[in-house]
Amino acid sequence: MNHLFFFEKTIQNFYKKEGRKILPWRKKDISAYKVWVSEIMLQQTQVGRVIAYYVRFLKRFPDIFSLAKASWEEFLPYYAGLGYYRRGQNMLKTARVIVSEYEGMFPDNKEKLMKLPGVGEYTACAILSFAYGKNVVAFDTNLKRVFGRFLFGSKYAELDKNDIARSLNSDKKMLNAAIMDFANSICLNRPRCNICPLSEKCLYFKEKGEREYVLKKEKKHFPTKDARVFLWLHREHREYYSANPDRFEVFILDKKMNSRDGIKRYFSEHYGLELAVRPPHRKTFVDEIPTLFVNAQILLGDHEFAIFAKEDIEECAAKTL
Ligand code: SF4
Repeated sequence: MNHLFFFEKTIQNFYKKEGRKILPWRKKDISAYKVWVSEIMLQQTQVGRVIAYYVRFLKRFPDIFSLAKASWEEFLPYYAGLGYYRRGQNMLKTARVIVSEYEGMFPDNKEKLMKLPGVGEYTACAILSFAYGKNVVAFDTNLKRVFGRFLFGSKYAELDKNDIARSLNSDKKMLNAAIMDFANSICLNRPRCNICPLSEKCLYFKEKGEREYVLKKEKKHFPTKDARVFLWLHREHREYYSANPDRFEVFILDKKMNSRDGIKRYFSEHYGLELAVRPPHRKTFVDEIPTLFVNAQILLGDHEFAIFAKEDIEECAAKTL
C-alpha cells in the first residue's frame, strides 16, 4: 500500500473513532464568520481555553455586522485573556472591511482573504475548507509536523506542502480536521509513537527522531530566571514610547519583573496602564547580562511618554531590537 494512501486511510479511521466533532466550530453548515472567529482565537491559544471564549463571544457578536459596529472598549471584555491584542485589533479591522467592502460576506477566494488584516494563508485555507467546502489543505504547524514526520522523519522541515496537497485524495475538510485532532492527541510535540496507528510506516518512528533529539540537546542554556527585560513599548510598531523624555531609550525592568504578569503589574502600579505583552522575541546576553527582548502595547490608560517614530530609533533598534 502506498504511503499516502495508508496515511489517509488511517487518519480517516482515527477521525471516525476519536475526532473532536463536538467542538463548537465543527458544526456542519458553519458560516465563514464563525470559522474565522475560531481560527483567530485558536492562533497560539489552546483549544480547551478557546471554547468558553468562543461561545461567549458569539453570544455578544453573533454576526459580522454586530462585530463591525463594536468599539474597542466594547470588544475588549470578550477578548481579554486570550492575549495577543494585535489579533483582537485585526479582528475589528477585518469585520469593518467585510461589512464595507463585501456586504458582510467573507470572500471565497484565497487571495482576497489573505488581504484581510490578520488573515494569513493558513486561516484563509481554513475558511475555504471548513465554511465553503473547498478542496484545500490548511497547513498549520500541526499538519506540517504530522505529514513531515511521517514522510520525512526528523528532517520534516523539508516538506513541500504543495506537493503533498496535490497527492491527497480524501475529502480535505475531513482531513484538515482529522490531522489537527491527531496532532493534538497523538503526534504531539513529544510524539506518542507507542500508541500511534501510523507508526508502522512512519519514517520518524523508524529513525527514532534522532536528528531532532541531537539538535535539541545542543541548545545552549539561557538563564531566563535571572534575565532583565528590555521592553519596547509601541503603537503598532509605528511609534515607540521612550523611558527617557530627551532621547529614545527602551524601558529596562529588573529580573523580578521578567514575566508577562510582572511587566503588566509594573506598568499598572507605576503608570496606571494596562498593557498587552508579547512573549520574548529574543533572549541574549547584553554586556554579559542575560536579557529578554519584549514588545508590548498600551491597551488602556493615559501616559506622558516621549514618542519616537520608527525611523528615529533605527540606530538604537539596530543594537537592541
Ligand atoms: S509514529 Fe510517532 S512521529 Fe510518526 S506520526 Fe505517529 S506519533 Fe507522529
